[in-house]
Amino acid sequence: MEHRVSQGMAAAHESYGRHLGRYLNQSSYDRMRGLPGVIDLAFGDPHEYPASALVELFHRNLDPGHPGWFAYTRDHPPAQEFVAEQLTDEFGERFEPADIALTNGAFGGLVVCLRSVCDPGDEVIYLAPTWFYYESMIISSGATPRRVDLAPSSWRLDPDRIDAAITPSTSAIIINSPNNPTGVIYADAELAALADVLTQASRRYGRPIYLISDEAYRRIVFDDLPCPSPGSFYPFTLLVHTYTKTLLLPGQRIGYIALPPSMPEREQIRETLTISRLMTGWAFPGNSLMYAVPELNGHTISVKPMQVRRNILVDAFTAAGFHVRPSQGTFYLLARTATGDDWAHVRKLEQHGMLALAGSVVGAPGHIRLSLTITDEMAYDTAARVRRAYDGPGGRLSAGQ
Ligand code: PMP
Repeated sequence: MEHRVSQGMAAAHESYGRHLGRYLNQSSYDRMRGLPGVIDLAFGDPHEYPASALVELFHRNLDPGHPGWFAYTRDHPPAQEFVAEQLTDEFGERFEPADIALTNGAFGGLVVCLRSVCDPGDEVIYLAPTWFYYESMIISSGATPRRVDLAPSSWRLDPDRIDAAITPSTSAIIINSPNNPTGVIYADAELAALADVLTQASRRYGRPIYLISDEAYRRIVFDDLPCPSPGSFYPFTLLVHTYTKTLLLPGQRIGYIALPPSMPEREQIRETLTISRLMTGWAFPGNSLMYAVPELNGHTISVKPMQVRRNILVDAFTAAGFHVRPSQGTFYLLARTATGDDWAHVRKLEQHGMLALAGSVVGAPGHIRLSLTITDEMAYDTAARVRRAYDGPGGRLSAGQ
């Protein structure tokens, strides 16, 4: 007899297949990944060992401190206090520890937010180019995804387009800044204009439109740029953060959802976030990670070396005929091809031992996305290989062979 799986999950799977699944099917990623000499620029995975002080911190928190050390633990209060203090310092407004909901990374945080504010029939807006999981996450939460394109080429927010996409069924919008894959940080004025649109639409339809602010990369910012949070402009914001980027340990799942001090009547949302974490299968972090949070200060990867690698890749791909706008933050760089055929470039780079993500799978056809979580050696090696790949016949102008 054939299996009969959940229709919602099947639809989420179909969306995944059009995004990340498509890249894995159509590229040589699975075959080439990990082979000696292959440079993996496709995903933001670590390529260096973590600092020994961080490993030691994790070891220490695995040692049982009392009999209940590994009991079911929801939010560990010292961890909530630590996060609230960090946010208070960062934004100059007093965040309450009780407004910090610890999660197993931004993955968990985003799904928990969606489950907390969406019902079947609701619509959730996401912006493209996009992180490849948003659409599937929205679908699996029972809502309908509404894609709105960012302003072409500048990849800035377009409040008019967002306004036009809002309907009486809109329950939320996902905003991601610094943005994966575009590398853009949204400025104060854009976020204020967005807040205006959402406030007016919420009034118009008599329900708050929640802004789910994916701030996974808030601390991965280049050139000392400021990185404002939408939560400073719009009270119905759910701020989602993860430590896995600042630690560059995506396999160690720890993050949080924070409610901004300006959010009205937060008690009900706090409770909903707790029930939602329980009902999505215990989306709290593991105990030993939660216990380590208050000691995380200072344990962030250095952004400056990554900025240097960004510059190396910007120069190398620009010289090869790509149009590259230096990313302002995140682990990524988005490069526009001269020919518009991103898949051809993915294949060409593969022929030279480099793995890059096809922009088509993140709503940026004609672009490739390159990861900056590489070593210095890999960055210089990439530059040399790109030069070889695009120099000479079949090179610069016919880039795309
Ligand atoms: N949002 C964005 C935009 C991301 O790029 C990622 C990770 N690639 C996540 C959320 C999920 O973060 P985490 O794995 O730390 O949960």
